[in-house]
Amino acid sequence: MTHSNDLEPCRYLPLPSDRLISVGWLSRGCEFAKGEVSPAFFEKLTHLCREPWQPVVSAGFHECDLCQFEGPRFNANLFVPFDGLIYVAPVAIAHYIASHWYKPPDVFVRAVDACPSMNSMDYKKAILANGGRELVRCA
Ligand SMILES: [Zn+2]
Repeated sequence: MTHSNDLEPCRYLPLPSDRLISVGWLSRGCEFAKGEVSPAFFEKLTHLCREPWQPVVSAGFHECDLCQFEGPRFNANLFVPFDGLIYVAPVAIAHYIASHWYKPPDVFVRAVDACPSMNSMDYKKAILANGGRELVRCA
């Protein structure tokens, strides 16, 4: 997987929006923030990652290359609308936190905290309200 620094514009996905911000696109050999996160944040994040809304079909599996052996594989992304932007993280982010002590930016923690349940009407509205109109059209 291509590495991208946290909070940079997300250019991985073939999506027509300039409001997409990368979070948690880690790969071996690249520096990333480490530290503890709250159990409440982690629980909410894993809940959102269970059936994440996907405006674009994933191009295949990504295996965690931070694991020394047999990293788990993932193929979905998480879209978290917040404060005029949409944060885009691979669902692998929960594994990065649990197994590799990744500490996401504070603004992403707040975004996850504020995020409505996946696939709820409130979630769709939040996507629309934060610049995701083109994404909803793609889905
Ligand atoms: Zn791993």
